[in-house]
Amino acid sequence: MTETTNTEPAPSPAGVWRWGNHLIALHGRPLPSWCLKCGDEIAELDGNHRHKCAVTFRPFTSYSAVGTVISSVAAKDMPVDYAMCSHCAAQERGKTRGATATIVVGLGLLGAGIYFGESILIGAGIIFPIGGLFMGMKAVEPLHGSFYDQHALWMTGASRPFLDRLPELPQELVPQEMLNRDAVL
Ligand SMILES: [Zn+2]
Repeated sequence: MTETTNTEPAPSPAGVWRWGNHLIALHGRPLPSWCLKCGDEIAELDGNHRHKCAVTFRPFTSYSAVGTVISSVAAKDMPVDYAMCSHCAAQERGKTRGATATIVVGLGLLGAGIYFGESILIGAGIIFPIGGLFMGMKAVEPLHGSFYDQHALWMTGASRPFLDRLPELPQELVPQEMLNRDAVL
């Protein structure tokens, strides 16, 4: 058992690794108290620095409409706690606000386009909110599910500085599914 106190720097946590751009955590292992974005150590991990997100794991990636629907229905959401420093959290909030503003502007353009019968405004009024939704989704969920099995969760979305602090997953522990996937890419 390891006890981590707030006074000394947290050692590299047991059961958490990196592999390429993947963050791997054994089930139930907390992520280290490093900012997910800048990788900085967060000395006092209080309520302001703890964040929760639902990481969505899809059983497979499909390029057909039916396959995508089946994959989405069978998708599994896993709650994951992560840490983020005040500076990065403020930036993320700014992005969310930017996304909301983009949606509002788009709806305004759409209304004006319909009112004045301007197709360019209508087009912009449709594109802006869609862009805003994507921006918002990216800002809200920093981690994305890549693969999971009975041992561990494999996630993307952690920053390079965060990943670089973690030990590399030993090659013999990489599941065959991930090796196959790597060969395909
Ligand atoms: Zn940060």
